[in-house]
Parts: sequence; C-alpha cells; structure tokens
Amino acid sequence: MEEGKPRVDLLCDGSSVIIDCHTHYTTAPPQFKAWRDRQVAAIRDGAQAPSPDDLAITDDEIRESIEHNQLKVMIARGSDLTVLSPRASFMAHHIGDLRVSLTWSRICNDLCYRVTKLFPQYFALGAMLPQSPGVPPSTVIPELRRAVEELGAVCVNLNPDPTGGFWNGPPLTDPTWYPVYEALTELDVPAMLHVSTTCNPAFHTTGSHYLNADTAVFMQLLESDLFAHFPTLQFVIPHGGGAVPYHWGRFRGIAMRENRPGPESLLRNIFFDTCVYHQPGIDLLAEVIPTQNLLFASEMIGAVRGVDPDTGNYFDDTKRYLDSTPHLDESQRAAIFEGNVRQVYPRLDTLLKSQGR
Ligand SMILES: [Zn+2]
Repeated sequence: MEEGKPRVDLLCDGSSVIIDCHTHYTTAPPQFKAWRDRQVAAIRDGAQAPSPDDLAITDDEIRESIEHNQLKVMIARGSDLTVLSPRASFMAHHIGDLRVSLTWSRICNDLCYRVTKLFPQYFALGAMLPQSPGVPPSTVIPELRRAVEELGAVCVNLNPDPTGGFWNGPPLTDPTWYPVYEALTELDVPAMLHVSTTCNPAFHTTGSHYLNADTAVFMQLLESDLFAHFPTLQFVIPHGGGAVPYHWGRFRGIAMRENRPGPESLLRNIFFDTCVYHQPGIDLLAEVIPTQNLLFASEMIGAVRGVDPDTGNYFDDTKRYLDSTPHLDESQRAAIFEGNVRQVYPRLDTLLKSQGR
C-alpha cells in the first residue's frame, strides 16, 4: 500500500507537540476504587449506594498521583501532552444498570477533568460513556454532551461490547447506535473504540478481549456502509488495530469475495493508534497502514508496565519504536506524533492553539 502524506502541516514556527492520544488515569488515589467497591456492593440494594459526595479526593492527592506516575513517565519519554481518559478496565459497563453506570461515568469523567485543570499543559480529557447492556445506546448522549461541552473532552471512549465479553448486543453498525454517531459528528469529537474488563472467563481482559475487540469492530465496519451515512464520523481503533494490520491481506480478500469495497475504503474514517509493544510490530504497522491513519499513543501507565529484558526498555515506551522504525521518515514521524492527532481530534487542536501551541 502506498504510504500517505501527512494530513496537515505542522506549526510553522518549528515547535512541535508530541501528543499521546491514548492513556488512562490508572493511578488515581485509593479512595476512588474504594468508592466504586461500595457502589458495586450496593447494587442489590440501591438505598445502600454511596453518594458521589462521599468520594473526597483533594487536589494535592491528585497532583501526587500524577506527578510521580504519568507526568514523570511522559517527561522521561519525551511526550508533551496526553489525552487522559478514565481507567478502561474500570469502566465495566456490564456491572449494574444504567443508573449505576451513569453515576460511575460522571465520577470518572469529573476526576479526569480535575487532572486536566490541574495540569492543563500536559493533559486533555478523553471521556467514558455511561453505557449499559440492553438499553439503547442513545442513553449515553446527555453525558457525552456534558463531557464535551462542559468538561472540554476532546474524544470519548466508546465500548463496542458493554456486555463485558459476551458480544450479545448489536454491532456498531446497527441503527440503534446512530443517535450516538449523530451527536459525535455534531460535536466534532472522535470515538476511540475501547472495550472494558471482561467477565467472560474465556478471555483475558488486556491479553485477548481488548485485541479481539479491535479486530472485531474493524470487520463490523468493513461489512457495512456506516460511513456512507456518517461521512465525517471518526473512529480510532486502539492497540495498533488488534490483528488488523497483520491480516490486512485477509480483509482485502474477504472484501473482494463479498463484492465489497476493500479495507482501504475505511481509511477516511478509521485511525489506528501505536500501542504496540515491540519493534517488529511497529515496523509492520508503519509499513502496512498509511501514515495519515496512524496516531501516536502508548496507553501508559497501563496493562504492560515492565521492562523488556531483551531490550532493557519499557514495553510501552512506544515512541522509541517509532523513532527507530525504518519505514518512516522525519515528516511521517512528525505527522504521527502531532499532525494526525490534531486533525482527528479537532477540539484538541483548538485547545492547543488556545495555549499558543
Ligand atoms: Zn486503553
């Protein structure tokens, strides 16, 4: 496949902003999880549910949790700004009902929002949505609007399987999702298609469920005409697209056999992040997927936190792999580190410009 050109020119003053578009707030103070544990324990009796006001976290506690974790790692690895969203495995949309999910989503989004206000130079908000199995997806729209319009979210994480690994809800191409897509396109925010923890024992949350989902949603979209209905809708598939880049030929062949447009036809609307944790994987990603469809991300501090003994570097230090791959030149790297993200996340671009960046 011919590699694409960067979609936008970088800032002409020569200053660049290395943007990590996929991280989660995994180091929140312990009272955050303790509140959730109380909420989950009270599901059978709503009267016992804790009040959101019971969760007390000070600004100093948030600063402490960030400065010694995300921020320290960002600075050490050379990224300037990250899109920070609630911890993905904690979204757990399958737990409780819509009311439980809504309360929890607001708490998670508000906490990440506080991080962005305490560290506006370093963090932008990615929001989670109050999804719940068996209810119309449109029920997320009020929180989607609040997150974008009031909290300044630049993207949202949309869970394609709120059942937590059973996949017995409608695919993303089902018209019941359309009201969500109408809101996303109206608000001009992309959705990262990101599942949460699995309650299906056949899957491991981060080892298989996440990667399975990345692959599954791509195939759902390949089989559909969704983007004919929503030509400006933008989806980001995380974790390097699961098996998609590796099996690009398979998707091309299936589309040909079914008389469908090939996977290239999706590339106006679908982007892949670079959360791939070894050099050969990033090399393949950069060779197969056009540059304009790649967005720098690490998902730190996340599922794979250790040091690779073969290299002596952290597995999730993905910038290092992008810097080393022979399949990118400097302008392509600049597009992946900044230009493409600003294009796909227009509200982030506006935010950065408001900061003079
Ligand atoms: Zn993630």
